[in-house]
Amino acid sequence: MTEKVPCQSEGCAAMILPSTAAKTGGYCMPCYQEQERRKREAYIQQHRKTVNLYEGLNDPVEILKIMHSPLQYDPLIKYTPYPRSKEQVYASLSPSEAESMAAYASHLLVSGDEDTSRDILSSLVSFRNESIAGCLPLLLEHELYYPGILYKDAGPDVRDRLLDQVEWDDENRNFILLALAWIGDEQVVRRFQEWRMKPPEWAEHLYVVPALYAREAGWELSDSGQRRNLVQGSSYAVEKMEDQRDSTVQQMFSGFLRHAAAACSWCSGKLTRLIDVDTTHTALARLNLSWERLQVDTCVNCGCYGVIYMELDGDGAPSWSAYNRKPDYLPDIELEEYSREYLLVGPQLMLSSIPRSAYYAAVWELDSHSKFGGYPGWVQDAGYPNCPCCGRSMLFIGQLDWSDLEDYGEGIYYMFICPKDRITATTYQQS
Ligand SMILES: [Zn+2]
Ligand SMILES: [Zn+2]
Ligand SMILES: [Zn+2]
Repeated sequence: MTEKVPCQSEGCAAMILPSTAAKTGGYCMPCYQEQERRKREAYIQQHRKTVNLYEGLNDPVEILKIMHSPLQYDPLIKYTPYPRSKEQVYASLSPSEAESMAAYASHLLVSGDEDTSRDILSSLVSFRNESIAGCLPLLLEHELYYPGILYKDAGPDVRDRLLDQVEWDDENRNFILLALAWIGDEQVVRRFQEWRMKPPEWAEHLYVVPALYAREAGWELSDSGQRRNLVQGSSYAVEKMEDQRDSTVQQMFSGFLRHAAAACSWCSGKLTRLIDVDTTHTALARLNLSWERLQVDTCVNCGCYGVIYMELDGDGAPSWSAYNRKPDYLPDIELEEYSREYLLVGPQLMLSSIPRSAYYAAVWELDSHSKFGGYPGWVQDAGYPNCPCCGRSMLFIGQLDWSDLEDYGEGIYYMFICPKDRITATTYQQS
């Protein structure tokens, strides 16, 4: 039997074989590996280079190309992030620069990089409401149908081709219906209505009836078969202000995340006022609200399990609605386990003074999610709640993304209203 020797590390009681000691210089394996790890780390610290891929670049097209290319992971390289967000750079493009980006996306598609191509086109549409109608024949050729929003400005040729294809293309029907919903012109609305009156044979293989696809694109068929929009025209980013003093004036116009006076009838926790905004705000113009402030309350503990309706009185003051139905799967909520730290963020939030594209944050896969007005960015399928009074889909007002509010926050609260019945609703989705 070979006699074991003690490990050389101070404080280590391990006994090791002489053969191991010969290999490691007298240390046990765990101590040896720890030393090696430290050496590697010190080496990385000493030799790490900071690389700024944007150095000396002024052309926003070149900058975006870099932003869209995957960074090669290398522990010895620390990449300097670009000081502006993708959205800001997209917003700053001139029309011809935007065209260059569309051309670059087409080039990527042809060379096989479908994902980056899709990201660029989605960004052009979402951040700028840029028409990419010129790219659509190429997208069809490469069977790139998703996300449907890319097709919203399609001309009659592309539309008619899709209306034909949806009848026979079993494989892509789901995506084609989404693309058609986003086109949503008179012809499409008529066809959706025809399908509603006389469901096509292929409809039985879908998860929902064809007409319901319209909701993914922010509209639905009215009883008489007309297009009824479920969204507001312009869209405003909900932004975090570094300096709160500057935002005092803005906050009179809009406020976020405050304690509401009333308590939740389900968990008895205090309700949260998600937003409190002047009804003269441009994003609400289409709604013609007759009172002064639009206030949307919900219970942040329970609201992620089901729709919460609030009824508004003559002055717009919200109160818990008798229509609320407690979900069977609502867990027992121990109030002290629920942090209300997000309320601290409220005073820092304000609406951007300049409107964004109506499609801003409408593609959930792109960043920037909290917004007011415009089209919702669904994490899952479109989920407009029905108004408990009139039964119609409620209109989208805005959304707050919890990942914008808390370090480990996740999921989005969506806000809706039925102006006629003076009812608001909130829903919640997460990935
Ligand atoms: Zn040891
Ligand atoms: Zn509750
Ligand atoms: Zn209603």
